[in-house]
Amino acid sequence: MNVTTENEITATAAFDVMRYRADFPILGRHVHITSKSPGRQLVYLDNGATTQKPQQVIDAITHYYSHYNANIHRGVHALSQEASAAYEAARETVAHFVNAASAQEIIFTRGTTESVNLVAHAWLRSRLNAGDEVLITAMEHHSNIVPWQLVCEEKGATLKVVPVNDNGELDYEAAAALLTSRTKLFAFTHVSNTLGTVNDVQRLTAMAHAQHIPVLVDGAQAAPHLRINVQELGCDFYCFSAHKTYGPTGIGMLYVRGELMREMQPYQGGGGIISHVTFEKTTFVEGPLRFEAGTPNIEGAIGFAAALDYMNAVGLPAITAHEHDLLTYTTAQLEQIEGMRIIGTAPCKAGVISFVVGNLHPYDVGTILDQQGVAVRTGHHCTQPLMQRFGVPGTVRVSFGLYNTRSDADQFITALHKALKMLA
Ligand code: PMP
Repeated sequence: MNVTTENEITATAAFDVMRYRADFPILGRHVHITSKSPGRQLVYLDNGATTQKPQQVIDAITHYYSHYNANIHRGVHALSQEASAAYEAARETVAHFVNAASAQEIIFTRGTTESVNLVAHAWLRSRLNAGDEVLITAMEHHSNIVPWQLVCEEKGATLKVVPVNDNGELDYEAAAALLTSRTKLFAFTHVSNTLGTVNDVQRLTAMAHAQHIPVLVDGAQAAPHLRINVQELGCDFYCFSAHKTYGPTGIGMLYVRGELMREMQPYQGGGGIISHVTFEKTTFVEGPLRFEAGTPNIEGAIGFAAALDYMNAVGLPAITAHEHDLLTYTTAQLEQIEGMRIIGTAPCKAGVISFVVGNLHPYDVGTILDQQGVAVRTGHHCTQPLMQRFGVPGTVRVSFGLYNTRSDADQFITALHKALKMLA
């Protein structure tokens, strides 16, 4: 599967990155300002951890608080109705973004982590028995490992793992062999936050579905970079966090394919999810509200929708192509560096590059890059088992967003050369 088509390459040529950069006020700032120094112009290459926010998102949240802040769903007054309408409109926007059949298939959560935990508890837990298995992969973020591990431990089930090869690609044949009648769920990432590898979700889902095994896809690193179409992917659960798609923190989504939502038990008890309560028995509403107990993150949902509107306006194919250009441009320069080891060399990658140089500690490299204004991530990236697989304690990770430029890449490479000289 190649993520860059000819149309998308044309889109790159027309991609007005400077226009989009102007939408992100934070990109104009300097870091490490002192009384003696104007500091360094920020070069932000830590988008895998979180993205910066465009003014459109900041304005949508400010507008909500300045004009129609109210609690939702239970008020008859004008502000409550406006806030409720905006919250439900946000659900529609998220549904369109992933091409869900209905907004009723979208649950608002705190983010990817909560989405995975929700499925682990509201869906899997009551179905899992001793001797059953949950299949994940060796490239999962801790968020897509630990929730399953906890439920498996409680139920006496086993967590099985699809291995990755030296390029950081999944072993699809091993996956096929590991999917058995004991497997109760296959959970895997769409895009690896450490390797950048784009997994073939359709192929993996088809393999699992051939044996009637439901599939959860962690889309935290895919939604910012690729067009998501859950109906085409065919998966049963799909989730991502707003803060990685230019939206606010504390909000995310969980897509649950129609019928499965009806099989899920309430995740948390509380207001907003009930149809009737007595001290003897509570009955619950149907649909996503059943899983959104308490006052939800209303501003978050509104900001989330504004962020997805923003991405749609820029255009997903154009974003994919632009970031692909940055990926190939930067990778080519990194490959010239002596002692460079790029961890994750799959042919199909999103805009993420992890690397180590010689025996240098990633933390030291990252610190010197930061002194020069270049923000990257260092460490295990919440993928410790993957670090063990590649025999490294951590990596330096560069991850691109739609507002990054070749000039950002050049500044990073210059700063890296300086860091390597200082650490030599
Ligand atoms: N999965 C992947 C692949 C991620 O990159 C991340 C965030 N680094 C998560 C899950 C967890 O996302 P959040 O912290 O927003 O819940």
